[in-house]
Amino acid sequence: MTIAPTATDVAAITPDLAEAAATAEMASSDASEVDLAALTRPDFPLLSQIACLGQPLIYLDYAATSQKPRQVLEALQHYYGHDNANVHRGAHQLSARATEGFEHARDKVATFVGASSAREIVYTRNASEAINLVARTWGETNLRPGDEVLLTVMEHHSNLVPWQLLAARTGCVLRHAGLTDSGELDLEDFRSKLSERTRLVSLVHVSNTLGCLNPIAELAPLVHGAGALLLVDACQSLPHQRVNVAELGCDFLVGSSHKFCGPTGMGFLWAREALLEAMPPFLGGGEMIQDVGLDTSTWADLPHTFEAGTPAIGEAIGMGAAIDYLQAIGMERIHAWEQRLTRQLFARLQAIEGLTILGPTPEQQPDRAALAAFHVEGLHANDLAALLDSAGICIRSGHHCTQPLHRHYGLSGTARASLGFTTTPAEIDRFAEELQSTIGFLREHG
Ligand SMILES: *Cc1c(COP(=O)(O)O)cnc(C)c1O
Repeated sequence: MTIAPTATDVAAITPDLAEAAATAEMASSDASEVDLAALTRPDFPLLSQIACLGQPLIYLDYAATSQKPRQVLEALQHYYGHDNANVHRGAHQLSARATEGFEHARDKVATFVGASSAREIVYTRNASEAINLVARTWGETNLRPGDEVLLTVMEHHSNLVPWQLLAARTGCVLRHAGLTDSGELDLEDFRSKLSERTRLVSLVHVSNTLGCLNPIAELAPLVHGAGALLLVDACQSLPHQRVNVAELGCDFLVGSSHKFCGPTGMGFLWAREALLEAMPPFLGGGEMIQDVGLDTSTWADLPHTFEAGTPAIGEAIGMGAAIDYLQAIGMERIHAWEQRLTRQLFARLQAIEGLTILGPTPEQQPDRAALAAFHVEGLHANDLAALLDSAGICIRSGHHCTQPLHRHYGLSGTARASLGFTTTPAEIDRFAEELQSTIGFLREHG
């Protein structure tokens, strides 16, 4: 049962927000002047808490996971409070409503990424599971010893390890495109590693450490020209900019709900329908079957073939509410506002002596992501993060699941501040000031 998404969904969940964003934009000529933090902060009660010593909490770890607006929490509460039942199996009204909400959320994901149908959206637990699904099903069916999978050195562990496991099982060979001096994908190196042996290219849309935006639409014809398929890890682009699979020209795209204001335990794989049709099932169990005998079974229609067992029903509905929320604001507005925050973040960090940021500057790449992974000469990232935490500021330290990338730079880890549309310019200023004094303190006492 699927129901076409309607504009009224978006308006119904966030009537004031959609209107306020539009009004604010009309009042100014520049989308980046629309203060989205002011518009959205009332929806994020978590961000209003006092951390310690009377200091407000400052959350700068959006790249690890986003905070959830009350509309998402209310969608979860409503589902469990009114509609909870198992999906696709009951004749009763609760099951019908649960199924409707669950499948309606799938339509929202399809619209969100520009899929041609909801049959192309497979629910998974997260992006990692979606990549594993492709590796296990498409990979094991199609790859022979000597076939190549082309990745990049900037990949998240989620886009490295599943291919390493696949290489061990099939004898396929992994190759990795390198970086330019500015910390962007080296297109020359990428081209030189792409050949008729390449069967699949899998890379990140936006790097969670470098913050660079990879030119997927430019790469897609090269990849297809070599006879390979293209998988895009969109974990860090989906929360911050418009993502459209047709415009990107990719074959697979994965995302995680918790990165874009939705619940954890929920993600998705988008794949062209013809590819999904040709892929064997992933996990076996209930929901994914049509007819089961003691020795053999037949499979359910797409996308249920790939969804064994009772799914995360409430979480899927919560993810749909997150998509409604983002679309009510508008992805273009989010991107414009965050670009402005990025320029501020960079200006403040670049003014700190001995601090180096990985990846391209906003001048080198204006579309780069609103995050900065950095190291400070002579200091350990963990010490910086721990001291900032005691001032109520949450940043990440470590390798951010990109260990090979850190090794490429000869670093064991970095500190990373990553922003969201709820971030205020005042928070960036306070972070920079606390960071500056933390560095001074560590230099003196370290
Ligand atoms: C977070 C992230 C992942 C993994 O997401 P999970 O939700 O942990 O599966 C993969 N790639 C990138 C770029 C990420 O930021």
